[in-house]
Amino acid sequence: MSDSHRLLIRGGAILSMDRLVGDFPTGDLLIEEGKIVAIAPRLDVDDAEVVDAAGMIVMPGFVDTHRHVWQTQLRGVAMDWSLFDYTVQMRTMYSVCYDPEDAYVGNYMGAIEALNAGVTTFIDHSHLQLSEDHTDGLAQGLLDAGIRGVFGYGVYRNPVYRPGDQDIDVDALKAELFGPLSSFHRANAERARDKYFPSNDGLLRFGIATSEFSAFSDMAPVLEEMAWCRTLQPARISAHIGVGVENELHIIEGLAKAGLLGEDLLLVHGAHLTDEEIRLVSEHGASISTTPETELQMGMGYPVAERFEAAGGHPSLGVDICSNVSGDMFAQMRLMLQTQRFRDYERAGHLPTRLDYPTRKILEMGTLGGARALGLESLVGSLTPGKQADIIMIRTDTVPMVAVNDPVAAVVFYAQSSDIHNVLVAGRFVKRDGRLVGVDWPSLRARTERSRDNIFRRLAQIPIEQVQAAWAGFYRLENDAEAAMLP
Ligand SMILES: [Zn+2]
Repeated sequence: MSDSHRLLIRGGAILSMDRLVGDFPTGDLLIEEGKIVAIAPRLDVDDAEVVDAAGMIVMPGFVDTHRHVWQTQLRGVAMDWSLFDYTVQMRTMYSVCYDPEDAYVGNYMGAIEALNAGVTTFIDHSHLQLSEDHTDGLAQGLLDAGIRGVFGYGVYRNPVYRPGDQDIDVDALKAELFGPLSSFHRANAERARDKYFPSNDGLLRFGIATSEFSAFSDMAPVLEEMAWCRTLQPARISAHIGVGVENELHIIEGLAKAGLLGEDLLLVHGAHLTDEEIRLVSEHGASISTTPETELQMGMGYPVAERFEAAGGHPSLGVDICSNVSGDMFAQMRLMLQTQRFRDYERAGHLPTRLDYPTRKILEMGTLGGARALGLESLVGSLTPGKQADIIMIRTDTVPMVAVNDPVAAVVFYAQSSDIHNVLVAGRFVKRDGRLVGVDWPSLRARTERSRDNIFRRLAQIPIEQVQAAWAGFYRLENDAEAAMLP
């Protein structure tokens, strides 16, 4: 449809996620120029293209606040990994096996996966910036898919050794991994910003994914990097923090003291932050993304969402690694919700007679909460007149969904990506009648599998022991009985 085209979504069960708009058991929603202009039980409009929503749930697209999109063609490789395994293998071995074509395929396929699952907005914490060509592939992959969100240029220290190098010098590798922010990243980030995001107010925006501050030994480089980030005016600065492998720097306090703890900061994980640090984050308007599935698997601590909310923050959810978890938000919502309830009961210390954590709250976290965390609340996250028409329509006549007794329960507990019938971003269909729009699936599938094969072939040429040895000290495995257990 053209931008001026009017589209009327007719007769769906509307979950607006906006408390002022409310829900409608049956309602109509009018879209004009890519924006929502009206929602009501019945709209009398005769000049709009009608989309029949009878028997469907109509709601805002999901918002994912933490994902490493490039890993999409590596599904399942991380299924039995600890955080140590992940750091060694994904971040320091698989990454060097990607060429620019793999970078493009990972990000394009990953964004398509998100859209297919009704995730219309995400932030890509993209630490695969090995060269200018990799960066171009990563950015172009997201742009071609037409997803909304933030491309978070990652300044991670990617190793320079290549698959096939027989002797990786462990000390040299350590020096790279824990060294200063390179002039390559500074220049390449600025180049990408100017090339793809000159005004930085489009569907996809420029952001920064920071260094792993937990690897730093003093605050000076943290403060310097944060100040440098701000010179590029990123839509968001995404930073892993408080995962349990920590230095003693009190980074949050240090940032606050230096006036660098701002609303543009999106912290990720954070279970090991103190109450005082969480209070500071909330007070300064910064956000925290919780990724329940990876945090539970990799021992990163009890998900911080509840503590952040108690401190006045707006928690949000992230998928994190597509190399282990599906790219939809259903699993993250269910895991977070039931983990929270488990925690409540454990604290009560007796068999509960009531349940305090409502299901609707988790659906808010997966939509409006994410939009707030990304600073996109005025545009997306709820079905509100004036906001962008980022809308999903979920069938209720399918095997997993029949019979629906409560639409909130249906979405959180039963819906699957295959039940999502229509997905719109800014009023444009990206999935229609259950099929992705403008995607040559046989060709994309073949391209993704070919990329996977090439990555695995290169990976087989890397000796893992030397890479493990480079990370052992960071994980406090040096001179430890556990070090002897490394394969
Ligand atoms: Zn992450």
